[in-house]
Amino acid sequence: MYLDAILNPLNEAQRAAVSAPLVPVLVLAGAGSGKTRVLTHRIAWLIQAEHASPYSILAVTFTNKAAGEMRGRVEQILGVPPGVLWIGTFHGIAHRLLRLHWREAGLTQGFQILDSDDQQRLVKRIIRANDLDESRWEPRDVAWFINSSKDEGRRPQDLKGGNDPTRAQMIRLYGLYEEACARAGVVDFAELLLRAYELWRDHPELLAHYRQRFRHVLVDEFQDTNAIQYAWLRLIAGPDGHPFVVGDDDQSVYRWRGARVENMQQFRRDYARAKLYRLEQNYRSTAAILMAANGLIAHNSGRLGKTLWTNGEPGLPIQLYAAFNERDEAEFVARRVADYVASGNRRSDIAVLYRSNAQSRAFEEAFIAGRIPYRVYGGLRFFERAEIKDALAYLRLLLNRDDDGAYERVVNLPTRGIGDRTVETLRDEARGAGISLWKAAAARSDVQQGGRTANSLRGFHRLVDRLAKETAGLPLHEQIDVVLKESGLIEHHGREKPSQDAARGETARNEARLENLAELVSAARSFAAESTDLELPPLDAFLAHAALESGERQSDAGEDSVQMMTLHMAKGLEFMYVFLCGMEEGLFPHQRSISDLEALEEERRLCYVGMTRAMKHLYLTHAEQRRLHGMDTHPAPSRFIKEVSRDIVAEVRPRASGARAVAAARLRREQPAAPAIRFRTEEPPPPGMRLGARVRHGKFGEGVVLNVEGSGPHARVQVNFEQQGTKWLMMQYANLEPV
Ligand code: ATP
Ligand code: MG
Repeated sequence: MYLDAILNPLNEAQRAAVSAPLVPVLVLAGAGSGKTRVLTHRIAWLIQAEHASPYSILAVTFTNKAAGEMRGRVEQILGVPPGVLWIGTFHGIAHRLLRLHWREAGLTQGFQILDSDDQQRLVKRIIRANDLDESRWEPRDVAWFINSSKDEGRRPQDLKGGNDPTRAQMIRLYGLYEEACARAGVVDFAELLLRAYELWRDHPELLAHYRQRFRHVLVDEFQDTNAIQYAWLRLIAGPDGHPFVVGDDDQSVYRWRGARVENMQQFRRDYARAKLYRLEQNYRSTAAILMAANGLIAHNSGRLGKTLWTNGEPGLPIQLYAAFNERDEAEFVARRVADYVASGNRRSDIAVLYRSNAQSRAFEEAFIAGRIPYRVYGGLRFFERAEIKDALAYLRLLLNRDDDGAYERVVNLPTRGIGDRTVETLRDEARGAGISLWKAAAARSDVQQGGRTANSLRGFHRLVDRLAKETAGLPLHEQIDVVLKESGLIEHHGREKPSQDAARGETARNEARLENLAELVSAARSFAAESTDLELPPLDAFLAHAALESGERQSDAGEDSVQMMTLHMAKGLEFMYVFLCGMEEGLFPHQRSISDLEALEEERRLCYVGMTRAMKHLYLTHAEQRRLHGMDTHPAPSRFIKEVSRDIVAEVRPRASGARAVAAARLRREQPAAPAIRFRTEEPPPPGMRLGARVRHGKFGEGVVLNVEGSGPHARVQVNFEQQGTKWLMMQYANLEPV
């Protein structure tokens, strides 16, 4: 009976993959074909049909959100108690292992995670401390060098500078950075993966233990694994294991972060017994959307080759909107969103996708003006806000006094008379003695003695020690609440006196900061309630969560809101309505990739990912004029628009102004298939003829309004009739009735 429940919701190809024998398996299939569903059902199958213990499952997904959903599904199918399954991201799982085996991994017990921003700050400090020119040695480039070396599994001693002095210097900085991390007891994202790999590689007894335990390893989005992740996977699976991996080479979008799509072919070479399954039916999107996406990706070379079809409804054409500028683009999207919501749709079914975070601002403004609740994923994440990082720095110090980044951040916050000069001297002393700032300060004889600065330092150390002691036994959210109050952070933000003219804005900002701090306490409360991690102390787990979660928590979580995110963040997700915005040369494809064929193909895959997120409606928008980095540009429409077959694209031009009409005419020159209609007014559409409205025509039957142009006696509407297809009609003569 259980087996039926697992297999029934699947098609034949999916069933075959789910019930495959215990051999290595590669599922290679296009977007929306049920790969993630197959992986989830496979877990249930292993437990139910193969009698695997839930403890023996290790499943890797791409985001924490996906991990949560997968866990929920499996628990729902099987009634397994929460927390037993190890499902997480590569980083999350590596972190968990390192916490459990910090000693073997050569870490300190209270080690903390550096996010990318913290990492760059640390690199910058090292560059400065070594009297190097920051414009020659940009922290971002140095961090990139360090991370990509780690992604390839290389430590400084594995690297050779050869005759290249730049490279030699990079390697030296990497070495210095490693020492600084070790002193401070911190690890960056790439380090989590490399350490976890080395932990198993260098401790055969541990590896044997985990191989025995995790007999079933499964990986989603396999096309985006990097070298170290794949090496880690091979270690845990062992030569006789049967990893189950699913992926789509057309959706590999992290090459710039070390992802190796070649791992898909490599897998078949490394596991000669591997069975290959292909899924070909797409269940997500309408035929029109799928055609558009298939047509686009056909322009890439070197693909593994897949078929993807749907027997779903044909659906509406892809809607193309040529905006005058980015404001017009955003206002257009906001209007459409309002229409969809007015006709009974949830806001969370609507996604606005863009290439880079900076694009979100125009949409946010339009949504605020239109009173449309929205949620931005990524961007400045909740946990990256300054006031939140201040609070986290105190919490990190409670666990690890040697965390120099945290120490520097709050040693004089709120102000307690410890100036830059003091910190500078402390840094020198710490570096000289090879110890942390905390230890350097504590060791200074004058800390034992008097003096104003010494008193302040001593006061700070006492505060941190006292907070650690006082909050030790408290529930997580109370612990944080006490720290916020007693550290003086709350008072600090409440009191901060704004200058006269900026008074109103500043007050609002202070309020927002206080609200965010309050939200941190409630975040901790819900985290503790939902946490399935039984092995870690709550504060450790919470701080790791703060560093690892990828913008999934925002202060307004819970309210039904439009979803806004970059295309990278959208991987694996699906939405009824998708707006793919900023489809312009230089923006998407990104300027950097235009002259590099491989990079260009990665951009195209990213566009393919974006299009295939849409279930029912897909909009492509671009602006004729856009302000980029403070300059007005006039970008050409993205080549990706032209790569989609014109037959399935309908151009939307509901309210053209003079300038807009010129812009549209330019586009038409390049894309002659669009119907050329001119109109002058900006009046609202005729009553009852809102976009998406259902209407009836005496001869053609029922249909949905796709487009409305003009007004008064000249108004025209485009209707997609169920029986007769899409038609343009003159309002005056059509006698359409709303249904
Ligand atoms: P992506 O490549 O975007 O990650 P995917 O291959 O992982 O997509 P899923 O997310 O698993 O695809 O499935 C896409 C959608 O199709 C989901 O809504 C899923 O529930 C649905 N689906 C998958 N298989 C079936 C099926 N056999 N019957 C009905 N719906 C299905
Ligand atoms: Mg998926």
